[in-house]
Amino acid sequence: MKTKSKYQKLSPLDHDAVKWNDGFWGRLHRLCRETILPRMREALDEPENGAVFSNFAVAAGRREGERKGTMWSDGDCYKYMEACAHIYGITKEQSILDDLDPLIEVIAAAQEEDGYISTPMQLDGKEYWTNHRDHELYNMGHLLTAAAVHYRVSGKRNFLEIAIKQADYLYDLFMPRPPALAHFGFNPSNTMGAVDLYRVTGDERYLELAACFVDMRGSQPGGGDQNQTRVPLREETRAVGHAVTAGYLYCGAADVVAETGDEALMAGLQRIWENAIHSKMYITGGTSAQHHGASERPEFGGSATDVHEAFGYEYSLPNATAYNETCANIANAMWNWRMLNLTGDAKYSDVVELVLYNSMLSSMSLDGLRFCYTNPLRWYGAEHPLLSQDTYERWRLLYCYCCPTNTARTIALLHNWVYSSSDQGLWVHLYGSSRVTTTLADGSEIGLTQHTDYPWDDAVRITIEAAPAHELALMLRIPGWCDAADLRVNGGESDAPLKPGSYARLKRVWKAGDVIELSLPMRPRLIKAHPKAEEIRNHVAVMRGPLVYCLEGIDLPDGLSILDVYAPDDMGLTASREEDLLGGLMAIKGVARHITEGNGSTALYRETGQERETDLEIRLIPYFAWNNRGISEMTVWLPRRY
Ligand SMILES: [Zn+2]
Repeated sequence: MKTKSKYQKLSPLDHDAVKWNDGFWGRLHRLCRETILPRMREALDEPENGAVFSNFAVAAGRREGERKGTMWSDGDCYKYMEACAHIYGITKEQSILDDLDPLIEVIAAAQEEDGYISTPMQLDGKEYWTNHRDHELYNMGHLLTAAAVHYRVSGKRNFLEIAIKQADYLYDLFMPRPPALAHFGFNPSNTMGAVDLYRVTGDERYLELAACFVDMRGSQPGGGDQNQTRVPLREETRAVGHAVTAGYLYCGAADVVAETGDEALMAGLQRIWENAIHSKMYITGGTSAQHHGASERPEFGGSATDVHEAFGYEYSLPNATAYNETCANIANAMWNWRMLNLTGDAKYSDVVELVLYNSMLSSMSLDGLRFCYTNPLRWYGAEHPLLSQDTYERWRLLYCYCCPTNTARTIALLHNWVYSSSDQGLWVHLYGSSRVTTTLADGSEIGLTQHTDYPWDDAVRITIEAAPAHELALMLRIPGWCDAADLRVNGGESDAPLKPGSYARLKRVWKAGDVIELSLPMRPRLIKAHPKAEEIRNHVAVMRGPLVYCLEGIDLPDGLSILDVYAPDDMGLTASREEDLLGGLMAIKGVARHITEGNGSTALYRETGQERETDLEIRLIPYFAWNNRGISEMTVWLPRRY
């Protein structure tokens, strides 16, 4: 089983190296194990849900019935199974494997003799490989990843054998590179899945298959931007098209780079990253500005193709119609996690953290029972015009159930994203109370605990429990937002540079009992956007640490609207812990301005000079916690009052 990728600067630790203690992510991990996954299992048995396990049993001839749910139902079921496997990886609860075994047995029975399995296609009697929107490769890709994780954490081969049989089928089908299949893979989890299978089996054919998937895209005429098939990735300069499809494609390509060192592919990914992150990403880490629209193609003389659920134009970041599908946001974090490990560059970890705390967590109710699909930055309450999959309140079941299982598996695997190792030593990417014990690349053992109430509190205390007898470097992430970090070792000041958006390097001979104290001061910050971002020009948003804050209408006095709240620069923002608010969180208070039309005009255009203005105390909550108190207005950006 491969644990190290040849062309990756940093390597993830073993699946059971890190265990959350309490703290922000530890509590969410427990919520995932105790609540999110058990309730999700029930949802996946309900016929009106978009993803259902029953399709496997019907396809296997075990029960009568017809296809339920979406064409991508299988893939969302596999994501649930992957999440369970990640939880097993650290809890080792036998009941988790016992619950998965009957599902795996039915999946095996539903698989066709040649290895094909995508039960909606099988049940509908559709001709295979005729329409890329049938999501055959999405379903198959998630099977490969779920089975690889299951094998990695349990050593059991029952799921793995299904994946191998399916991957062998795909190898025979795709390796001749049939032109008609060049652009297959909508939401292409298949490339990541093939690399995941390669990493657990060592079978080079699966890496060849993954590289083939990447190479084929854009290799034939007739491609479009929606599915990133117009321009081959190695030549691409822009992030365009469906933002989940794009994110999964970039993740798969990054996985191929990690194993092959393909420099042209890496250069393409870096160009796309610059375009996506510096001109198309929301302040929350969301990436799909467009519900329906057109691709941005100045290099083709502006010739655009139709896109939906897609990246927007450069600096075009509308708020009320921001689509920001949860899966696209998570794909953005997954892609940045891969780029981080390829390079060790903290600019990628900043995006990972931004997404996790904001546009991923915003998709789930605080109790872990209900979800949303889109993640807009402004909401007009019950008046809001709905886009497809939008709802006024969070839901338990939905026709398109991709996002809940994605959120669950990301929370379930997140302990794997806290650290990486390299030839230099141990890298700390995320802060959260946890304990790590691992063997580094040079064979030495290290153990340490992190104790922190991050992201509410700025203090991180790391205690060394075990260390090698020789020098070892610890690389501690200094977030890009933190310009006043302080670092001490055993009470003494460190001389390591603490540049925002970098890793502070502490190299010494460590001994058990050594204590590192990192302070990452979190003053509330007023953020403005690039002046080309016209929808938010002259607006400000409030951030504290990695968290984006928002104003919910329910926190305003009766009859007042978020639309009438303006933000002066001197709002006197202060953060304070409110234990009774939304399960306990850090709220931010300040004095804003309430401005209304003195003449009561509601006309589309009005002459200035009629406004009435008063002070207004406001309370802001973290964006991820919005929509937990009934239908209400919400906004992240407030117009700036000079
Ligand atoms: Zn989704």
